[in-house]
Amino acid sequence: MEINGFRGQLITADHADYNDARAIWNGAIDRHPRLIARCSGAADVAAAVRFARDYGLELAVRGGGHNVAGTAVCDDGIVIDLSGMRSVWVDPASRTARVEGGALWGDVDHEAQVHGLATTGGIVSHTGVAGLTLGGGIGWLMRKHGLTVDNLLAAQIVTAEGEMLQVSEDEHPDLFWALRGGGGNFGVVTSFDFRLHPVGPDVLAGPILWDAADTDKVLRFYRDFVSDAPDELGTVVRFGTAPPLPAIPEDLHWRPVVIVASCYAGPMEEAVRVLGPLRAFGSPLLDLVARTPYVGHQSSLDSTVRHGWNYYWKSTYLPEFSDDLVDVITENAFACSSPRSYAVVFHLGGAVSRVSRADTAFGNRQASHAITLDAVWQPGEVHGDQDVRWAKGFFASLDRFRDGVYVNFLGDDEEPDRVRESYGDEVYDRLAAVKAKYDSDNVFHHNQNIGPREMKARTESTRSSG
Ligand SMILES: Cc1cc2nc3c(=O)[nH]c(=O)nc-3n(C[C@H](O)[C@H](O)[C@H](O)COP(=O)(O)OP(=O)(O)OC[C@H]3O[C@@H](n4cnc5c(N)ncnc54)[C@H](O)[C@@H]3O)c2cc1C
Repeated sequence: MEINGFRGQLITADHADYNDARAIWNGAIDRHPRLIARCSGAADVAAAVRFARDYGLELAVRGGGHNVAGTAVCDDGIVIDLSGMRSVWVDPASRTARVEGGALWGDVDHEAQVHGLATTGGIVSHTGVAGLTLGGGIGWLMRKHGLTVDNLLAAQIVTAEGEMLQVSEDEHPDLFWALRGGGGNFGVVTSFDFRLHPVGPDVLAGPILWDAADTDKVLRFYRDFVSDAPDELGTVVRFGTAPPLPAIPEDLHWRPVVIVASCYAGPMEEAVRVLGPLRAFGSPLLDLVARTPYVGHQSSLDSTVRHGWNYYWKSTYLPEFSDDLVDVITENAFACSSPRSYAVVFHLGGAVSRVSRADTAFGNRQASHAITLDAVWQPGEVHGDQDVRWAKGFFASLDRFRDGVYVNFLGDDEEPDRVRESYGDEVYDRLAAVKAKYDSDNVFHHNQNIGPREMKARTESTRSSG
């Protein structure tokens, strides 16, 4: 098979690399594309998009291949694979970085930290920059420096027509707005320009572990602790077993624990003072908060969520923790069966909440927390069915607290209106209008899909005439 004007690698089912090339982070996703077009640059991407259109092929786009829903790979069609496009160029003078569309967060941190710079990225370094950014981007630095999209200055995108556009506040501002939260609906982004900030290179960061039996007390303390925390403090709470990391003593491995992990993106003396009360609370089993290279902290969780394991997620935004909500979390968080399953709470607010809702296509900027309920089992293990039920049951018990959802945390079995839930009606309808302008045939639909306005109108008229 040939694609006119394509210089990268074409991988079909008879190729020795086919099974590796179609595998993504979530081992539960097992799809067989007809063709994987591993691009070497933007021109290849444009050629592959035109090819897919010409032959009417189902089309999926792979950035880091990390999305739990597995939208990076499709059955029978073509995967436009950017995993060969991972370059990062940092300009320390302007504190900006240009990042190719297949880069991972570890690639960005590796280059930017040479200059003591960083921008908000994901908390696992093998997550893709593209998918994370296009959905919004939350991470350790967001309360100080905003979402990843708040640091996006420009992008280069290949549209459904195979046209290459530069987008920014000044060029195609409607499309630039949509890219900052609207996901992969508008084309294939071949590069991103980000604003960087001085961070580290050392930060005060790390996890504190308490016994699972202390969850209720830890959560009540945590709620008050973060309610007036400075923006420099990013925290994540994890409910699960202690992972068998080298930094954790063996006698704690696999023991059910509640973990509050922190990263302070500010002066070290202030960090010590601010984290003091958290470190002094109760009787921690282990306190690993320490002066740490930021780049090391960014990859410290990597081995707890390995490629090829099976994953199933449910997620929602949550308001501030009422006593009632603490009770529900405490009751459900440890009821899973797999030692690898866990739940994670991200603390939002700070700079995230100070950007106007209309400025970007990100959904709910006022949510206090996001929670993901993550069933995890290795291939061949029996935990799958039970922990999928656990995630669904836990999610149902959070129903009365639900406050929208982060689009990047949606799985592949969600009800269709969960995409609308991610954005709210106003943002969703504005996204649909941009979609209608740039991809009216919905070529890019293998994603958390926003239908073009015409399609929605058609559906509505069909419904009303039916
Ligand atoms: C272990 C783990 C930790 C995570 N932690 C965080 C976190 O801390 N913060 C956070 O915000 N999110 C986090 N996420 C969610 C993450 O943002 C999404 O999974 C995201 O989709 C990953 O991006 P990717 O490029 O790897 O995705 P892929 O799976 O490659 O792609 C997912 C979708 O993104 C779109 N896409 C990908 N690349 C492009 C491109 N170049 N151009 C256009 N569209 C594209 C496509 O629609 C594709 O279907 C995490 C996910 C996992 C699994």
